[in-house]
Formats: sequence, C-alpha cells, structure tokens
Amino acid sequence: MYDMNDSVDAASSTPALTYPLGAAPGQGEAVEVAPGVLWLRMRLPMALNHINLWALEDGAGWTLVDTGMQTEETVAAWQAVLEGPLAGRPVKRVICTHMHPDHIGMAGWLTRRFDCPLWISRLEYLTCRTLVADTGREAPPDAIRFYRGAGWDSAALERYKARFGGFGKMVYALPDSYRRITAGDEVLIGDRAWRAVVGRGHSPEHVCLYCPQLGVLISGDQVLPRITPNVSVFPTEPDADPLTDWLESLAAIALAVPGEVLVLPSHNDPFHGLHARIQQLIDGHERALLRLTEALREPKTASEVFELLFRRRVDGEVLAMATGESIAHLNCLLRRGLISRETDATGVLWYRRV
Ligand SMILES: [Zn+2]
Repeated sequence: MYDMNDSVDAASSTPALTYPLGAAPGQGEAVEVAPGVLWLRMRLPMALNHINLWALEDGAGWTLVDTGMQTEETVAAWQAVLEGPLAGRPVKRVICTHMHPDHIGMAGWLTRRFDCPLWISRLEYLTCRTLVADTGREAPPDAIRFYRGAGWDSAALERYKARFGGFGKMVYALPDSYRRITAGDEVLIGDRAWRAVVGRGHSPEHVCLYCPQLGVLISGDQVLPRITPNVSVFPTEPDADPLTDWLESLAAIALAVPGEVLVLPSHNDPFHGLHARIQQLIDGHERALLRLTEALREPKTASEVFELLFRRRVDGEVLAMATGESIAHLNCLLRRGLISRETDATGVLWYRRV
C-alpha cells in the first residue's frame, strides 16, 4: 500500500544518474535546493526509513508538498521544522502527491493547525477516504478469496486477517474537503507556476509538479532514483492492470518534462537523469515480463513467480506487496494476450503461456 518496494526489488546501480546536492537535511533542518524550494526529510518506521518533503515559498507563507506518516516522531519533527527553518511564515496550503500514508499521513494535522486547504487529485482523495474507512473492519471475504487465489497458505491468510485495516492508523484524520488538482493544471506558488503531471500505476492519480522556470520536477513516488516503485493489484479490483497504466504514464512523463530537470523524489536523494531513469524503470519491467512469459511454459500461481520476478526470497512482511506486484505483471501479460488464467477446484488461479 505504501512504499517498501526497495526491499522487494534489489536496486540496481545507475551510472547515468548524478546527485548534485550534499547530505540530506537532518531532523528539524531544511536545505534550499532551488530558489524558494526547501528540502525536509522525516523518518519512517519501516525498511524504507525516510521520506523527503518540500516547503515552497508562497508569498508571505509556505506551500508544503507531502507531509510524512502519522507517528509521534513525525509530530515532533514538524514542530521542530515549524519553529526552526519555517518559522515566521504560516502554512497556506498542503499539497499531497498521492494518498499513501507516508505522504498524506500528517495532512489533516497540518491543515487543521493552519486552517488551510489540502490540494490533491480527486482519485487520491477518494481512495484514501475509502482505505481509512476500512480501519477497524474485519478482512472481507473478497480479500481472502483474492489471496487464496494467489496461492497463499492458511497461516499467511491468518496473518493478513490479523493485520487488516492498518492503513488508517498511519493517517491523521483527513480533512473533510479538498481542492482538486487535475492533470495539466498550473498551480501558482508564490510567483512561479508548477504544472501538474499525473502518473498512474503506483497510485491511482499521482500528481508530480513541474516548474519550467526553475527546471525542477517534484516527482513524488512516480520516479525514484534507486527504488523501483511498487505497482500492485489489490483485492478491491482483482482484474486491474496497473502495470500498463504505470508504463504508459512513465512514457508520457518523459514527453512532458525535459530530461535536464533537477528531480526531487520522495525517497533517496535529488538527482539529474530523469529520462535515463524512466527508461531504466520501463526496461526493468519489460525484462521481468519476458522472464515471466518464458517461465509460464509450465502453469504457475502468482506465489510461484516471486523469485523469478524479484530475484530474492519473499516472506512475512513483504508477502502482500510481492503478491500484488506479481499479479500486476500477470494481469499485464493477460491483457497482452500472452498468457491465460484458470481457476482450480480450490480457488487457486493458475497462469500459463498461450
Ligand atoms: Zn507511494
């Protein structure tokens, strides 16, 4: 649901990318990465242990881009930043690139504190409201059917039931209304226009912000330099094909944003080499799809292709994410007409090359 994909996909080295900035800001610090653009970093309680956030000068105040996960530590980090490098100007607006808890987790806390609006795309806002509403519910039969169909054993299904509904615990009460951002919008921040460039596949309507005047792209999780973002199918839409969305939107971003921009990603460090990185992400998935097609000469379940796709063992913590990602690749091959799918008497789905 949120990004831990670095632990699934061993990041490859990327000689075409360069990292022009120095060390990342520490807790309570900010680094100016372009005129009026401040880099903040906050910790995350998981394998991917940090997120980058951005504060943009906006007249007499600030526009914040992304907010960190709801934890006591993030509250303390925001207090330090608001009394430190951001002191003296109020937050006028909070923009969230997408609805994953490390991005939207503190949006409600910040918008209430400053009585300011949340700007976000419609699908991200509504999807987040849906996921938050699952908190406290029992895992639905649809989800159990989905993971049983992927080949999970009963121990894995029991662990899933015990953990279900955790999303809302990582998100402070959302604002009850929002201002919609749509692909192509020009968002005026201070005296600079930032164009909304939408990506799909990692999340439903992920907003990147491109400022031609500064030559800067805030890429969110859509383009990360050292991590392959998670692209998953979830039980709410078992036949979804997010990988096709992902590949198409990456190609569209390469056309919409010039290669020489400074990319400000949500994880890892700011970098140059946008087009090289996009090509590498696309090529990595296409190679995985080829390996998968080859391997499916023999019928297999979604759980039987983890090692082939991720080149590592998958267990416990990352099982649901790896399963979602396997099914994303399988559904993409189904859509391309390269494989077929059959359900056996026990409800398990088997895929094979046609
Ligand atoms: Zn994300």
